[in-house]
Amino acid sequence: IVRFENVQKSYDGETLVVKNFNIDIDRGEFLTMLGPSGSGKTTCLMMLAGFEPATHGEIYLNGQPINNVPPHKRGIGMVFQNYALFPHMTVAENLAFPLKVRGMSKADSDAKVKRALEMVRLPQFGGRRPAQLSGGQQQRVAVARALVFEPDLVLMDEPLGALDKNLREEMQFEIKHIHESLGVSVVYVTHDQSEALTMSNRIAVFNDGIVQQLAAPEVLYEQPENSFVAQFIGENN
Ligand code: ATP
Repeated sequence: IVRFENVQKSYDGETLVVKNFNIDIDRGEFLTMLGPSGSGKTTCLMMLAGFEPATHGEIYLNGQPINNVPPHKRGIGMVFQNYALFPHMTVAENLAFPLKVRGMSKADSDAKVKRALEMVRLPQFGGRRPAQLSGGQQQRVAVARALVFEPDLVLMDEPLGALDKNLREEMQFEIKHIHESLGVSVVYVTHDQSEALTMSNRIAVFNDGIVQQLAAPEVLYEQPENSFVAQFIGENN
């Protein structure tokens, strides 16, 4: 569904924070970009979403080059750590917003909003404002909003980083369940090894703007290609 081809990124015209990145992401796959802070994960996601231009190379979505396609025309859902819900709108209005932007009728929009809220197990919360929800509930609304227009691809950048440990584990399970039941492709960014290992079909291990290894979790464990991967995957486990 996604191809990065010789993609490089520099913010200052000198230092490459993403160095010649080549990767194919399969349709329906849950692919995690895992690596330490500053290794270039968010930059890759921002280029895929269209918020940062690539300095070199091309990104393809469904076989089409998208470097010149603006973010709202890429049809990609997004979830961020800080939720980014509109505080002055109700939950239902937050969810209806991406549908309204796409010109959907009120009746169709209402039906999709209802379904999305059911999917994240918040059917009775449509009338509340984000401030009247717990952190976990707000993050579920953010997930619902990313999925409401039924994208093929959803990007998630540290979506559970602000939650406590118990809630994080519960949400990992829910996100995984949604991924499997909808068959949606997910690109997930985290620096948490155990989160990556439990959730992903494949993991791209980043360090210093380079994908050190891209493989299924068990392969990273059993056959790390270099000492960085071996050490990083082994930490906190
Ligand atoms: P984190 O987990 O801390 O978010 P990351 O792996 O996502 O880290 P990036 O955010 O992609 O890493 O950052 C990679 C490098 O690019 C860092 O050195 C960072 O300082 C730099 N960088 C990121 N965004 C910008 C920006 N808008 N302008 C200039 N430099 C940036």
